[in-house]
Amino acid sequence: MRFLEKIFQCITEQVLPTACIVCEHHQKATICNNCLQSLYDQGLFNYECCHQCGISLHASEIKEQHCGQCKKHSPYFDASYCLDRYEGVLQNAVHQLKYQKRLAYALGLATAWNAVFAQQLMDANAAYLLPVPLSPKKLALRGFNQSWEIARRIRCGPHIQKMPYTLKRQHFSGRQAGSKHADRMQAIQGMFYIEEGHLELLKDHSVIVFDDVMTSGATLNEIARVLKDNGVKRVTNWVLLRTSKPL
Ligand SMILES: [Zn+2]
Ligand SMILES: [Zn+2]
Repeated sequence: MRFLEKIFQCITEQVLPTACIVCEHHQKATICNNCLQSLYDQGLFNYECCHQCGISLHASEIKEQHCGQCKKHSPYFDASYCLDRYEGVLQNAVHQLKYQKRLAYALGLATAWNAVFAQQLMDANAAYLLPVPLSPKKLALRGFNQSWEIARRIRCGPHIQKMPYTLKRQHFSGRQAGSKHADRMQAIQGMFYIEEGHLELLKDHSVIVFDDVMTSGATLNEIARVLKDNGVKRVTNWVLLRTSKPL
């Protein structure tokens, strides 16, 4: 399948013009060199960030590599790698993918991730990579899980197995955005579970969880809690865009 996708991609690159996912100028690559350079220059990965939750640190926090929030209430996950800020150059591309259902943007976003992070994260210590799931209802509405569409195209070490169906999500009818942090934490409890047949696979292993956008961190924290309750040793988040404050 990947082989066929690659052939198709090579043909379309030669025959059809494509547009950069950031500036939308027509050229050959899914993200142009100028926009990639902006990401290299300004991306969040350039900054001193909290090792655990990936948020950029205040000067006083840099020495310990941890933000005040993580020191006060340590999340269940152990580390986070975030490519860029939510407000950065990739925000519109993520919106196009999620809300306009422009699936081709997943390739451009994965290309940006690969250009910056693939080499650095190639030796990441993990057995599995799990995308944050959508509920069956949301999946039916959108038609695809944006986190998986990006995650399946990112390069990672051959020792890491990508598993799109391991994490499961129940449908949640309340509005998540805008509610208070404490409400959000409570509302999200019990939302995620692990596919029964995969429980044994995960035990005593390290796992990467991939998400397109990290806001308060409540979703990723709840996923890490469920994973660790089921014997996972270590949880690392790989995140495309990180908000500086909860949205
Ligand atoms: Zn561009
Ligand atoms: Zn933190």
